[in-house]
Amino acid sequence: MPERFESESRKLLGRLRDAMASDLAGQARLDRITHLIADSMGTEVCSIYLFRDDETLELCATEGLKPEAVHQTRMRMGEGLVGRVAKRGQIINTPDAPSAKGFRYMPETGEEIFSSFLGVPIQRLGEKLGVLVVQSKDQRVFSSDEVYALEVVAMVLAEMTELGAFVGEGAALSARHQQSVLFRGTTGQEGAAEGHVWLHEPRVIVTNLIADDPVREQARLTEAVDDLRVGVDRMLEMSVGGDSEQLQVLEAYRMFANSKGWMRRMEEDIARGLSAEAAVEKEQSQARARMAQVQDAYLRERLSDLDDLSNRLLRILTGQGRQTGAEMPTNPILIARNIGPGDLLEYGRSLRGVVLEQGSVGSHAAIVARALAIPLVVHAEGILNEALNGDHIMVDGDQGVVHLRPDDTVVAAFRDKIAMQAKAQERYASIRDKPAETLCGRVIGLHMNAGLMADLPSLEGSGAEGVGLFRTELQFLVRNQMPKRSELAELYARVLDAAKGRRVVFRTLDIGSDKVLPYMKPNDEPNPALGWRAIRVGLDKPGVMQMQLQALIRAANGRPLTVMFPFVAQFDEYRAARQAFEKAMNREERLGHVMPERVEVGAMLETPSLAFAPKAFFQQVDFLSIGGNDLKQFFFAADRENERVRRRYDTLNVSFLTFIEQIAERCAQTGTPLSFCGEDAGRPVEAVCMAAIGLHTLSMRPASIGPVKSLLRRTNLDELKQVIYAARHRGDQSVRPSVMEYLRAQP
Ligand code: PEP
Ligand code: MG
Repeated sequence: MPERFESESRKLLGRLRDAMASDLAGQARLDRITHLIADSMGTEVCSIYLFRDDETLELCATEGLKPEAVHQTRMRMGEGLVGRVAKRGQIINTPDAPSAKGFRYMPETGEEIFSSFLGVPIQRLGEKLGVLVVQSKDQRVFSSDEVYALEVVAMVLAEMTELGAFVGEGAALSARHQQSVLFRGTTGQEGAAEGHVWLHEPRVIVTNLIADDPVREQARLTEAVDDLRVGVDRMLEMSVGGDSEQLQVLEAYRMFANSKGWMRRMEEDIARGLSAEAAVEKEQSQARARMAQVQDAYLRERLSDLDDLSNRLLRILTGQGRQTGAEMPTNPILIARNIGPGDLLEYGRSLRGVVLEQGSVGSHAAIVARALAIPLVVHAEGILNEALNGDHIMVDGDQGVVHLRPDDTVVAAFRDKIAMQAKAQERYASIRDKPAETLCGRVIGLHMNAGLMADLPSLEGSGAEGVGLFRTELQFLVRNQMPKRSELAELYARVLDAAKGRRVVFRTLDIGSDKVLPYMKPNDEPNPALGWRAIRVGLDKPGVMQMQLQALIRAANGRPLTVMFPFVAQFDEYRAARQAFEKAMNREERLGHVMPERVEVGAMLETPSLAFAPKAFFQQVDFLSIGGNDLKQFFFAADRENERVRRRYDTLNVSFLTFIEQIAERCAQTGTPLSFCGEDAGRPVEAVCMAAIGLHTLSMRPASIGPVKSLLRRTNLDELKQVIYAARHRGDQSVRPSVMEYLRAQP
């Protein structure tokens, strides 16, 4: 790199910094900057175009074009040379702009007299903010050094735009991070919440972009990279023998941390006048831009590793930790790219809601959010670039929508919705201690689903009769290593204490499929939902199941104990699981532990096959619970995790209801107690239909007990059953329309 140019570039950046430090207002600042750039680069024109909205660019400052055009000239993304630079995020450098592809003549700017054109995108961490252009009359091709200098300037402009440096009197630009923005994601957990943004990993704010002393910046970078390498090596050492996927990621980190190309590019940026932080961020920005373009999943992963590594380096350089010492706001709503179940549990009930940029409906975080009963929206794309700590935010988990910095009308409508829900809650509280007795005199047992100690207080609040499903895998999912038997025994004992004699159905470990333990070797299966999961793992790896069963027996310590095996597909599996239970009982007795006063050993009916098991199975099993989430996915062959198909088939489809009715009839013949514990049990209309066709017990999220009980108490199940039968007789596909019509007609 020529020495002269290096110092020119530094000089330009130095002048830019002075312009920034001056107390000029927003527009005057922009004007000063375009003047400085044109002057330093020896061009007649320098213009800055910024996005007004996602699609429109506006000329915001210029040196050399007609001043009247400022804030008047606009173009759409892709339109003209400027629009093309923005759209593709790539530089255009041409000596003869009028004959370049895409040129658009704009008489209001007087630009036809300028021949050469160099436009570079203004973007920050992959987000498009505008375009910076220089033009001159003579037909010159800008050298690669000049292009580079303008790119660096564009980056500084991007940072300044981000920091709101151009907002102010006369600038006619609204500040970023101040407008209201709507994000459409996917429902992870229903519910509505209003609060303030709390970023799980707040962005690192870089304020010192330009530096005077390249030698010092170079030393800072070297020191920070050394720290980073040591940190990565330490992480590698700690995870030797651990999960191979994690090791792979760390190896990739190490490769990047030692990459000469990465270092060299950052060193060059520093030589040109950037601070160490700005040099790291420039590399990160480019990695993000590439990430948006590559299709290959492996490459994308590696680029995202690099992104992560850059964040670590920025934290080392700026000394900004995970949380920057900021106070958690009132009613915090957590925003993260993704979050592990352990981290989410640590926040616990202090959170009002969670919004994830990635995540998935079946992720562990979603399971925990559900257990915590806080609204969760996943796939809210772009929210991390927009949200700042403390921003006002409203999360509509029912619609999968997030309103960031909502305007007054949205706020009013949203608060009405919350108020209506609160009113309904009051109504439910008034029937909390009353039975779920229908108009025809049947009493339905309503129980709650749980998975965490934190769920137990809901037993009192919701009016549930007991815990119909305790998902024990959550305790395994939220740890970094297999829990010990003594830890589990203690926890289960506390659950039973909190239940104060009410029945708790402990479901043994249901892992595999979407629930993968971080410390167990992942299995590469083509169809994990149909793979090695739940009881299949339990029977093939009896050690863990024995440990868990012993912990349960110890926890009962003389009290009644109810155990349920998940995902039983055939009689033999139940028999084998029951034998394992007997073995654990014998072992515990030999060890001198007190035996449970009474035991019930049941199975979950989650595969259609079990509905057709021999009569002897129904006679031997102590009780059955329909896991409707899984049963429905296998009945319709529609993946419960797949957004495209998961809502495709209605639970009130005649075929599915008929199937459930047949299961209820088989259980009635053998006197086998039957319940339903899938998510559908918590949906009032589905719940009353289920009760009408013969289910006496339902288990659901605690928050659903009120609404379900309220509808049951207003319904005559005998009449509803006739409505269902009539729809079936007519050949309707789903009974929903006639059921809804019937329910609406009720007083
Ligand atoms: C079910 O499948 O309906 C169920 C209750 O179990 P899980 O959702 O934990 O798979
Ligand atoms: Mg299941």
